[in-house]
Order: sequence, then structure tokens, then C-alpha cells
Amino acid sequence: MPLTTTPAILLRAHAYGETSRVLRFLTRDRGIVGVMAKGVRSGRRGAGLETFGAGALVFFYKETRDLQTYKEFSLERPRRSLAHEPLRLAAASVLAELVLRHGGDAVPETLFDTLGEALDHLAEASGDEILLSLLSGAWGIIRVLGYQPSLTPCPTCGRDLSGDEIGRFDYPQGGVLCAACAEGAAGPRIGPGARRQLAALFRAELPELDKSAAHLRLLSDFITYHLSGGKVLDSFRVFAAMLPGNG
Ligand SMILES: [Zn+2]
Repeated sequence: MPLTTTPAILLRAHAYGETSRVLRFLTRDRGIVGVMAKGVRSGRRGAGLETFGAGALVFFYKETRDLQTYKEFSLERPRRSLAHEPLRLAAASVLAELVLRHGGDAVPETLFDTLGEALDHLAEASGDEILLSLLSGAWGIIRVLGYQPSLTPCPTCGRDLSGDEIGRFDYPQGGVLCAACAEGAAGPRIGPGARRQLAALFRAELPELDKSAAHLRLLSDFITYHLSGGKVLDSFRVFAAMLPGNG
């Protein structure tokens, strides 16, 4: 069985029996990889297995297996601050779940760097910037996965929205409908300000948001519709419930 080494980010770990763990990584070379890691729950063998940390994963690879066999993980970038604050941890969990829910072994290679940068930004964000950092990181991942919505032109009639036009977001079409096509449509209203803010988030910037709760709902509903099979990500519920005013 070939021994494989690849850069990897640990996304999730759960206990298996008394001494082992099942670990899920995003790897640069093989997409999402699940490994059975025996004997890592005690002693030195489990050192460095920190969730959201990046490093070099070594495992025995067999194509027909769901769970590969773990050899070792050398932690290079721990990102420990993500675990120190509940809201930061919840935001990082949303990014990890988004990648886990969508990813197989055929994810684009750039997803590895995109997720890594998003986690770095989240780890360094000030308390006020956590929500923004999550929005920008998640839209960046969605873009790499090939699902970025179009802000203009209107996906129904193909006309460019004018500078002050108020359209509506259409989830099935993955874009913003012009005012005429939006008549009778049910999606959230998207004015010029919201379009500018979304465009900035798509570019991985941290714009000032007029309505951050509406942005969070749009992101969550978009992911539910297109990426997570009609079900809200569990970590999204956790994150939203922690925000001030939603408690
Ligand atoms: Zn239209």
C-alpha cells in the first residue's frame, strides 16, 4: 500500500473506541481524506492533532477504502486562537463543515489555500470582525467550488442592473434578478448597497455592512440551497445563536 504525504488541514476529529480517532482532513493533493488513527487518544502519537491546524499528513492510501490508515501528522500551523473563543470557533466550524459537506476527493486544488487563508483571517480578526471574516471566507470557498452567484446581469433576462436598481436574490438561479423580473419573486431584496457589499465580500475584502444579519441569512440560505442538500449546516445554527441579539 503506497505511503502518501500531503499538506493537510484537520477539519474534524471524533473518538473511535477507547484509544482511536477518526480524523477528516482537507488535503491539497487528494481532497477530503478520512483516516482511522489508532492509539492517538493518549500519549505522544496524538500530539499535534489540533482542529483547524495545518501540517503534513502521512497515511497509507488505498483507493477503494473510505477510511485510510493514518501514520502521522506534523503540525506546522496550529491556529490555536480559533479554539479560544466560542464565536471564533463556531465561525471556523462553519467553514470546515461547508468544505466537508461539499467535498469529495475531486475538489479543486486551490480549495486548500483558500480555506487556509480564510482560517488565518478568522484567527487574526478582531472580535468585531469575526462575522465579516466568516462571510468573506465562506463566499471565497463557494467561489472556488464554482458556485459564486452573479450580481449582474439579471439571470432571467440578461439585462445589466442599473446603479440604483433594487432587485431580488433568486436562489435557484444563483443570482440577482432585475426589478422587472423580480416582480412576484420571493427572494430577499438586494439594493445597490448590498450588491456592492457582496461584491467586496466575493473579493475577500471586509466591507462595512448595513445589515449583517441579512448577509448571514443570505449566505446560509444560499449554502442550504446549493451546497448542503437542503439542510442548514449545523454549525451555522450554532454560530447564529451566539450572535448578540439572537441568543
Ligand atoms: Zn431581468
